[in-house]
Amino acid sequence: MPPPVKLAIIGGGPSAFYVASRLLSLLPLNDTVSPPLRVHMYDRLWAPHGLVRYGVAPDHPEVKNCTHKFDMTATDPRFRFFGNVNVGSTPFHSIPHALHLPLTSILNNYSHLLFATGCTLPTLHPAISPSAYCIPALSLVHWYTQHPSHSSPPALDKISHLTLIGQGNVSLDIARILLTSPSVLRQYDVPEHVLEVLSRSTVKHVSIVGRRGPLEAAFTTKELREMINLPEASMIPIEPALLTPPPGVTPTRQQRRTLELLQKGSKNPPGSTPKSWSLDFYRSPTGLAPPSTASASDMASLTLAHTRLDPATSRAVPTGETSTLPTSLVVTSLGFHADPETAFFDPAMRHLRSSAGRITSSEGLALKNIYASGWAANGANGVLASTMIDAYAVTGTILSDIVPPSEAVKITSATSVLPMGIAPDKMLNPHPDLDGLPSEIVHGINDGMVIQYDDWKVIDAEEVRRGEALGKERERMGWKEALSFLTLSAPS
Ligand code: NAP
Repeated sequence: MPPPVKLAIIGGGPSAFYVASRLLSLLPLNDTVSPPLRVHMYDRLWAPHGLVRYGVAPDHPEVKNCTHKFDMTATDPRFRFFGNVNVGSTPFHSIPHALHLPLTSILNNYSHLLFATGCTLPTLHPAISPSAYCIPALSLVHWYTQHPSHSSPPALDKISHLTLIGQGNVSLDIARILLTSPSVLRQYDVPEHVLEVLSRSTVKHVSIVGRRGPLEAAFTTKELREMINLPEASMIPIEPALLTPPPGVTPTRQQRRTLELLQKGSKNPPGSTPKSWSLDFYRSPTGLAPPSTASASDMASLTLAHTRLDPATSRAVPTGETSTLPTSLVVTSLGFHADPETAFFDPAMRHLRSSAGRITSSEGLALKNIYASGWAANGANGVLASTMIDAYAVTGTILSDIVPPSEAVKITSATSVLPMGIAPDKMLNPHPDLDGLPSEIVHGINDGMVIQYDDWKVIDAEEVRRGEALGKERERMGWKEALSFLTLSAPS
């Protein structure tokens, strides 16, 4: 039988759970060829499921169905979850209550290590820094999902015009939430305090600005269709010339669908709804000037360089023209990158240094038994289905290291490419105590500061119960409330 395997997974989002579930199911309990296995998952957030809980838009509840699979994974006796634990060299500043676990404690206690740490920081725009008039999209997402680092609520009752920079799905999620009536949103997993702010919103128009054209827009057609069908908002028609592909360009099926939807326009004609939105193509911000007076109704001035597509590089290049857009608030939604504090961060790629699922040294050598999956390995792109496919491929790589190749072929058909060479194993512990935990975690559990999966299921059930009482999907708890609820519900 192969030697025991004790895998630590840092991160508790979808990529982490897909790897855990695949590994545990491919190496069944009590199977003669499977090594003794433990999978311990650590997350700096107290609740599991990462972006599924703290990123998916509340009006997309079906996307969260994957949590049923994750719940099944957590019932495997070889699996444990430790929430509110920040693994890393420095304490994570934005979640002050998270327990700090140095990476060395992981290395001393585990034989294998997977980074599924995601891309947790927003990419900022070089020309406009965060200010009272410019916030990253992540602040809004964290606000409406009640993320543990969530920022103060946006002053939606003081603004009429909001500008999103970037035309990806996160932009469309935010626009949709702002343009949907709170009476519709209240059936979903939207906290009461968020609904209260949304019900006072005076936002009338959302501009969604992109530096390239409709063929290059990053959003998907499903999300565009939802915008077009909004009952209380209409789209400002787009100049027909912008919706005609340039000569010699054959649009893909998805691009054709996008163009058709944009040509058709929104379900409600412009002017017939209390709110409106626009897609402003070929515009790139160059500066943001605050209002000239302190009056709340005064708008900031966003300067936009007009751009065109360079056919050789497909990049946006300035035409030399500019215009000014008066706006109350700019929200930059330009994607995400990994936290530079994470070990093996590659500043050029802005995610972790890895190849075919393995963390690599700065010389490009794969580090033995250290892996990366999901956004941590590939950057912030793709939807949940692509995260799952990637996670399964990384599981294939892990498996190829822990079971003899002949057995690995029987267990999985995933092809795992062994890179150029494997650096000697000096980091992890090849003979860890299988059921032992880092001492910091033992203390954290005793102090009630580490949340395990059973604790989460208690909170989960209570959130759903509170939601049902309010006629909605769930009513979320914050950290302090969850902690006191767990204390009160603990058997005496
Ligand atoms: P994204 O899809 O990468 O879109 C980023 C947008 O920002 C693009 O329009 C990009 O334009 C623009 N941008 C980047 N840098 C810029 C700059 N310096 N100046 C002007 N514009 C700039 O990112 P996202 O919307 O944050 O989404 C991240 C991932 O999550 C995506 O894979 C997305 O599909 C996924 N997601 C999926 C869903 C869903 O399935 N419903 C919901 C949310 C997120 P260029 O193309 O010109 O670079």
